[in-house]
Amino acid sequence: MMGAGPVPVPARVAAANGIVINHLGDTMSQIVEQVKSMSRYVFQTESGRILGVAGPGSAAMEMAVANLVCPGCRVLSVVNGLFSSRLADMAERLDAEVIRLPVYERQSADPAQVDAYLRQYKPHVLTIVQGETSNTTWNHQLPEIARLAHEHDCMIIVDAVCTLSTMTLDMDDWTIDAVITGGQKGLSCIPGVSLVAFSQRAWQFIQGRNDSLKHWCLDARLANRFWYEKSYHYTAPVSGILALHEALRLICTETLSARFNRHQRCSQALQNGVEAMGLSLYVEQSARLTSVLGINVPGGVDAKALLKYMSQRYRVEISGSFGADIVRIGQMGEQCRAHNLFRTLHALGSSLHSMGVALDLPAGVAALESTLDAYEFAPVLPAARVG
Ligand SMILES: *Cc1c(COP(=O)(O)O)cnc(C)c1O
Repeated sequence: MMGAGPVPVPARVAAANGIVINHLGDTMSQIVEQVKSMSRYVFQTESGRILGVAGPGSAAMEMAVANLVCPGCRVLSVVNGLFSSRLADMAERLDAEVIRLPVYERQSADPAQVDAYLRQYKPHVLTIVQGETSNTTWNHQLPEIARLAHEHDCMIIVDAVCTLSTMTLDMDDWTIDAVITGGQKGLSCIPGVSLVAFSQRAWQFIQGRNDSLKHWCLDARLANRFWYEKSYHYTAPVSGILALHEALRLICTETLSARFNRHQRCSQALQNGVEAMGLSLYVEQSARLTSVLGINVPGGVDAKALLKYMSQRYRVEISGSFGADIVRIGQMGEQCRAHNLFRTLHALGSSLHSMGVALDLPAGVAALESTLDAYEFAPVLPAARVG
């Protein structure tokens, strides 16, 4: 499973997912406390309110949007592609007045442009993705954009489904009001259980709302009953929460800085391998997402046929795309292991070779290996702040 998600889960996560316990018992309440405290580390927040969601990453997106967006209020959505556009659609369904700021497909959002929109439209909420999985772009100036939103007294919702725990995201330091993640991508957990973290400012806003939310399941004040008051909202996905607990525990044990380093090393090695083999990457370095790589499909090759061949011949799954003529390889969690990289690069190169594309597979494998080696002794990234 080397596509854009779901990703492979560690054996311990799979084992935890096989257990069912009382959703309101003492064990569960201890698990919930630990999930919240480990999440605070992973999101890098001291005071953030952590809520779990039984549902896909999209349910967590909808939870953040539904609780912070009121009917009639103004929302600025920075749209890089499919997922950032989904946030705008969700706000529109809540009868918000949505202004879309389109970003050119292979570029990062520009803080100066966001600033101009903030000045002109004075939105109440800004939505943005850290990484746009659909076209593999990265909004690398997110800290600056979040700071601008804060200056304009605008709450900011960040979708970090494919990026959380793969690269730096500092919720408190960057003054982000809601961070969303799903299980099946950066966290290397199962699909179907997701997390949202709300800032203190966001939580005050939610508590101060006097209208009743359209979404009952996604009402943060109701979810708070389970996550902070040991009582019933809906039957929690106990097995999924146990799996999430284990996935978070593995992240905490590895530490964020070592994990970011592993992701950077593996992603860079794969990028170098792909290029040395003779293929090209879809996005320029500065705007390139490292957690999901977009690779241009060589002329004359049908992407669907390539994926099918790789799956059937080599048992390696990678992803196609929703628009551009690219295939996507994930570099999230367990995907970032040397043996997975060699196998994936070999499957890609050999499949293309069989389809008549001239490539230098040995050069690709050599570049992959030498990049992995070069990182072995590289300095580690700065330590995470919240311990
Ligand atoms: C995958 C993804 C989502 C949606 O997650 P689902 O679990 O499929 O609902 C949202 N945002 C980003 C950036 C993603 O990569």
